[in-house]
Amino acid sequence: MGYGKKIYEEAKTELERRRQKAEGEAAEKLSGFYLQFPQARELREAMAKNAAGAAKAVVRGGDVRSELQRLQERAGKLNAEYDRLLQEAGLTREDISPRYTCPACKDTGFVDGRLCSCFLELQRSLAYEKLSMDVPLEKCTFSSFSLSYYQEDPRAYRQMENIFAACKSYGEKFRKNSPSLLFKGGTGLGKTHLSLAIAGTVIEKGFGVIYGSAQSFAVSLEKERFDRREDGELGDTHSQLLSCDLLILDDLGTEFPSAYVNAALYDIINSRMLAEKPTIISTNLSMKELEERYSERFASRITGYYGKLEFLGKDIRIEKRKQNSRR
Ligand SMILES: [Zn+2]
Repeated sequence: MGYGKKIYEEAKTELERRRQKAEGEAAEKLSGFYLQFPQARELREAMAKNAAGAAKAVVRGGDVRSELQRLQERAGKLNAEYDRLLQEAGLTREDISPRYTCPACKDTGFVDGRLCSCFLELQRSLAYEKLSMDVPLEKCTFSSFSLSYYQEDPRAYRQMENIFAACKSYGEKFRKNSPSLLFKGGTGLGKTHLSLAIAGTVIEKGFGVIYGSAQSFAVSLEKERFDRREDGELGDTHSQLLSCDLLILDDLGTEFPSAYVNAALYDIINSRMLAEKPTIISTNLSMKELEERYSERFASRITGYYGKLEFLGKDIRIEKRKQNSRR
């Protein structure tokens, strides 16, 4: 599972901020307490010395048992006195200890060298947040998808019912090597809605998803082409499009035509196919038009390796307006 390096770094920074805040606040309270009761600091030092004494006694040998008992009694007294002073200051032990957001890992993100669940949760919400900044992820879910717009045409209704079920199950069962899909059909038939619903589900499951219109990718790819470093290394967009767990390329064919972008898109689609990484493409174009617009090998990659879903019906946006005006 992976949300990419950027999200990982951002989550790490956020954990660091939480940790510093928790520890800073506790340290501040503690130093205020010591300022008010300097004897509390001395008690704390005596407690530390006492604890070290116990370790020494064990190493030294002799009558360890009675020595330990003596030290333990002393520790009890020191602690009680310390607590009494705290109470006098109107504080508790909790007040002077850091209040970590996640007590399990103390906001370090790791427990016994393994990723803590809070770290994963944080990455997931950052990835979700980032994607929803660009697209209406929360509006376009499976539960907000309505089949009622397709009711007038029984054939379209049946087809869309199947497509809806297929998309839902695709999202729920998503794996790193899930098949690639091609959403075909006219504008306003729910292609974008269902691909965003898949994106939301797959992100929730902890995978890295990149979603964008062909036009927005084209703009970023062109921009990188000119900013490209001298060592010829791939830009951020290009490498992210190659490496993400799921790439969703919306509205293929609506971008401004460019030989460079066509070649870059072919490279991305082909490389992902070879690496068995899933891609979802939606387009208004027919196979023939794809072939003419891009190339034969481009179209043949898609014909050969993508599961095709043919969206039917009338433009939902028009249907929605009709339903609203009837109310
Ligand atoms: Zn944690």
